[in-house]
Amino acid sequence: LVRIEGLHKYYGHHHVLKGIDMTVKKGEVAVVIGPSGSGKSTMLRCVNLMETISAGRIHVGDALIGHREINGKLHDLHTKEIAAQRRNIGMVFQKFNLFPHMTALENVIEAPVQVKGQNKNEAKNRAHELLKMVGLGDKTQHYPSQLSGGQQQRVAIARALAMEPEVMLFDEPTSALDPELVGDVLNVMKDLARSGMTMIVVTHEIGFAREVGDTLTFMDGGVVVESGDPRAIIADPQHARTREFLSRVL
Ligand code: ATP
Ligand code: MG
Repeated sequence: LVRIEGLHKYYGHHHVLKGIDMTVKKGEVAVVIGPSGSGKSTMLRCVNLMETISAGRIHVGDALIGHREINGKLHDLHTKEIAAQRRNIGMVFQKFNLFPHMTALENVIEAPVQVKGQNKNEAKNRAHELLKMVGLGDKTQHYPSQLSGGQQQRVAIARALAMEPEVMLFDEPTSALDPELVGDVLNVMKDLARSGMTMIVVTHEIGFAREVGDTLTFMDGGVVVESGDPRAIIADPQHARTREFLSRVL
């Protein structure tokens, strides 16, 4: 469902992604790990069009991200077309970025109503379902400031799901949370994986990678060093850099 081919990203002269290849099949959970600065966030930001691609291609479903191909040449898409592609890709960040002046329910219905033009009552019904699914059925009228970090992050997940994306991207969704709140968020992500959602998850939660991941990709210095079955890689990494990284996070 997601195919990243030869992805390069430069910030000025700074070569951050140096030819990333990665494939995620429909319904799979791809976990990405790697040291700070290895390019994990940049890669996700390229997939959901928050960054322009310097070279390479990204396919999500039938869409070629950010471009149209005519006679083998890539042309940039227009703003409207980019917005349409982005709607199909849900993203959850380390910082939850909820609208502070809106209740949990209002946060969840905002994009479906404003962007998709969904009927408000329909959107509300769906939002109630989604908030129930993430364990917040009794918190729909709470404002972000009245919710714990873990609860806010679960609202953020419900908000992303409200757009019915084909794929969900998670960028260290639990690393800003107090340790005792991490489990609830990971459980919501586990349920989502079980429901068949296609997911790319950047995380340092190796337990999650082992239990839920279909693939594990280790990035370092803007390249994929090692990728494969999570349990095999965690038990017996093939590269010294992977071994060294895992020994620090395990
Ligand atoms: P972390 O684990 O700390 O989140 P990461 O693997 O997500 O790290 P990125 O945030 O993708 O790493 O950053 C990769 C490199 O790109 C870093 O060297 C960073 O300084 C650089 N970089 C990221 N965003 C920008 C930007 N907007 N402008 C210039 N350089 C950037
Ligand atoms: Mg990052």
